[in-house]
Amino acid sequence: MGLYALLSLLALTGLLVALNAGQSAQAVAQQTQQVQQRLRSIRTQLEAGEDPQLVLASWEQTLHRDGQRLWLVDKDCRSLTTVEEEPPAEITLQSVVQSAVRSGQSMRSIHIHGDDPEVLAFALDASPDKDHVRVLLTVIDPEMLQGDHASITAAATRAAIFTWIIGILCVAFVAAGIVEPLRAMSLNLDQSIEKTQREDMLLSISDRRDELGQVASSLHRLEEEREDRIAKLKLAEREARSSSDLLSAVLDSMVEGVVAVDREQRIVFLNTGARRMLGISKAIGIGHRLYEAVRVPTVLETVQDALKSKKMETLEYRGSREHPSLVLVVIPILKGPHAGAVAVVRDVSEMRRLEAMRRDFVSGVSHELKTPLTVIQACTDTLLGGALSDPTAAVRFLKQIEEQSERLLQLILGMLQLARVESGQQVLHIESVDVVTITDDVLCGFRTVADTKSVQMFLTGADEMIVVTDAQSLQTIISNLVDNALKHTNAGGSVTVELIACEFSPAIVVRDTGTGIPEEVLGRIFERFYRVDRDRSRERGGSGLGLAIVKHLCQALGATVSVKSVLACGSEFRIQFSRC
Ligand code: ADP
Repeated sequence: MGLYALLSLLALTGLLVALNAGQSAQAVAQQTQQVQQRLRSIRTQLEAGEDPQLVLASWEQTLHRDGQRLWLVDKDCRSLTTVEEEPPAEITLQSVVQSAVRSGQSMRSIHIHGDDPEVLAFALDASPDKDHVRVLLTVIDPEMLQGDHASITAAATRAAIFTWIIGILCVAFVAAGIVEPLRAMSLNLDQSIEKTQREDMLLSISDRRDELGQVASSLHRLEEEREDRIAKLKLAEREARSSSDLLSAVLDSMVEGVVAVDREQRIVFLNTGARRMLGISKAIGIGHRLYEAVRVPTVLETVQDALKSKKMETLEYRGSREHPSLVLVVIPILKGPHAGAVAVVRDVSEMRRLEAMRRDFVSGVSHELKTPLTVIQACTDTLLGGALSDPTAAVRFLKQIEEQSERLLQLILGMLQLARVESGQQVLHIESVDVVTITDDVLCGFRTVADTKSVQMFLTGADEMIVVTDAQSLQTIISNLVDNALKHTNAGGSVTVELIACEFSPAIVVRDTGTGIPEEVLGRIFERFYRVDRDRSRERGGSGLGLAIVKHLCQALGATVSVKSVLACGSEFRIQFSRC
């Protein structure tokens, strides 16, 4: 708009200047022509012999009205009539007069002051060789000329300014019709503006039947497509994020540790298991190098080897105290944007412990079975070798066979019971159990053994004690503990069962004054087949399963078993129930 105003103003100014110049030239030409005609008429009158004075007087008013003045001069510019005004005596007039005289009766004109619209006109009535030459000299009043010209120029200027203003208003009107919708579009197409507002604005502009309307309806279509595309992208992004979250959650919930690295061994994924097992601090995360996270050289070497060889590598190594045995499997990822390797670390400590237990169990069972079977075999060999003929020896050997068979049976029964309890297959009948009666029954069962060994047995503490538990299992527990106490108590000693009928934490304590257990092995006596003194224990008929059965039954009943012992003074086993 501003540019248009400036340019149009310049154009109009140029036009006015040109018009002005043209007008000026035309005015001068018209005046000159008029003067020439008049001079010709005057010359004709003079040549007809009319009195120059009267002729000039008759023309004076007409000429004066049009701003023209007339003189009759000789060739030296001296006035030949008695007019008041002296003819202009400019040096240039002289030359015009001389020129007119030289060229006969032709007319000459000249601008006196350069570009000023001042004109002189001449007419001759004699040839140059005559001494008496008359010249009609006319001067056009420049102010008259100027006046006409100025009024025309002023009118033209007014018309030009009016046209310019009308033009500006028209342009402003047209521009407003274009600029307003454009401005509305530019303001409302911003993403911060609400979608409905944007659409309303575009729909209102698209009603127009011009190009702007087409642009607005195209923009509206684009807007709709864009919204559609954005919605689809958002949906795709949500789906991608949710599957990525799901994957992360799955990987994070894995017991195994997972670390993914790129080719430069920069961490690209790390789950909680990996942090725990590899001891990676929280300060380390995505983007860190593996060697910054893991300090175990063998692990780093294994990852390096897998990346180099492009083959799966495995490593089993000793980890921390919480994870003593760890297995690392490194699988290289050869292609794709995440090329590198995935390391999966698994804690096999429990597996290794169970393997060791199984090995121990198998060797324990073999050992336990071997001894009685060897004895049985030796006895049968001896009997078959001729001892049968000796009835006394035969009876002795057969008794030994019976004893060892009984031992084998007890061993197998013990193992079966332990297996049942451990696997949770032991059927428990949880009910209110009269502990006093059960303990009394157990002690009665061992009365003969105790008398034989000259060991005294006591039942102390509560006269009445009811515990919600399984009666059969409780009997086995008390029986095993009393059996052990009698086995390890020498003649003259005593075995006491104390019943503590506390309301919240009832307990059964089996105390003896026997050999006691060394402190350093107290933690091991509940292991199956563990014996402090293997040979003596076997002599005493122990299978090495009694305390293991006690421990597992207690666990099944929700009770705890603990032991205190002083070597050569005696031992105390306590079964603690959580509630009555
Ligand atoms: P065993 O059948 O050999 O007695 P247990 O599992 O019952 O097997 O006991 C494991 C070991 O614990 C025994 O061999 C014995 O050395 C020790 N022990 C258990 N009870 C006592 C006790 N009251 N006094 C001394 N040592 C005991």
